[in-house]
Amino acid sequence: MEIDEYQAVRTQCLAWLARLTGEQGEGLRRLFEGCASLADCLAIIEERGARMRCCPHCTGDKLYRHGILRGLQRYRCRQCRRSFNALTDTPLAFIRLREKWLPFLQCMLGSMTVRAAAESTGIHRNTSFRWRHRFLAMAKDDRPKPLSGIVEADETYLLESQKGSRQLTRPARRRGGHARKRGISGELDCILVARDRQGRTCDFVPGRGPVTVARLQRHLLPVLDKAVLLATDAAAAYRDFAKHHGIAHRAVNVRQGERVLGEIHVQNVNRYHAMFKNWLIRFHGVASHYLPHYLGWIHGLDCRHLSTPQQFLRAALFPAGS
Ligand SMILES: [Zn+2]
Repeated sequence: MEIDEYQAVRTQCLAWLARLTGEQGEGLRRLFEGCASLADCLAIIEERGARMRCCPHCTGDKLYRHGILRGLQRYRCRQCRRSFNALTDTPLAFIRLREKWLPFLQCMLGSMTVRAAAESTGIHRNTSFRWRHRFLAMAKDDRPKPLSGIVEADETYLLESQKGSRQLTRPARRRGGHARKRGISGELDCILVARDRQGRTCDFVPGRGPVTVARLQRHLLPVLDKAVLLATDAAAAYRDFAKHHGIAHRAVNVRQGERVLGEIHVQNVNRYHAMFKNWLIRFHGVASHYLPHYLGWIHGLDCRHLSTPQQFLRAALFPAGS
């Protein structure tokens, strides 16, 4: 069935079902929605399968179709004789209940908490937590590159968190939220954000403590176009980094109250920091090692403007460059 045909049939069915009243009508509508959601979900997964050019086990390129297993096309590799499907070797390989994936992603579009998403889709809370991070593990690295023109870069810090960890590597904090040391210490996770004036945004979690030249080299350098003008605050690490790599650089001395020098400022990046931290509040603290997931999530919502669960699933299944 062609996609237009399918959509027409679906609309027609929903119109008929809408006329049914009572418990049976409600039950039928729910069943139908489940089936339609599963069909959508499988169709998007199979788009990924159709694009696979080599075997995930041995990278051999002689593939053939080999039956259908649990609703998904199975492929087989002539070289290693092993079979696979579109999700093999991905974090989504073994998660079931595919009829609930799109409703769950709808909850993620609404930035719902683990508990709220679980209640809304009828899955267990632990499942809800696991799914969140499986989807984000696939979508998290999807960033437009390179950044060009004027590129603002600045870092912000969040108190390191071992939320959910059974073995703390430090004494527990009383009442959660304060660092023991003043200033930028090893208790703070550094979040580096770079954004150009087209709104392309890259973010990194380089580690704990202050931003350094080595960190900028590792993370920022690979995403910059050759002819950028780097705009930062007056921190020495940015200055030294730019000088070392021959990158044009202008700094605003934010500490001395200087905010804008013509086009040079870091206000877009600082707004991004503020928006991210504000958005995080609803989750009541997130574990440090999941920070890249949350940055990927907000990037999807804010920069890529994901607005349907189908788009969200595609973002997870087809990261940029794949
Ligand atoms: Zn193979």
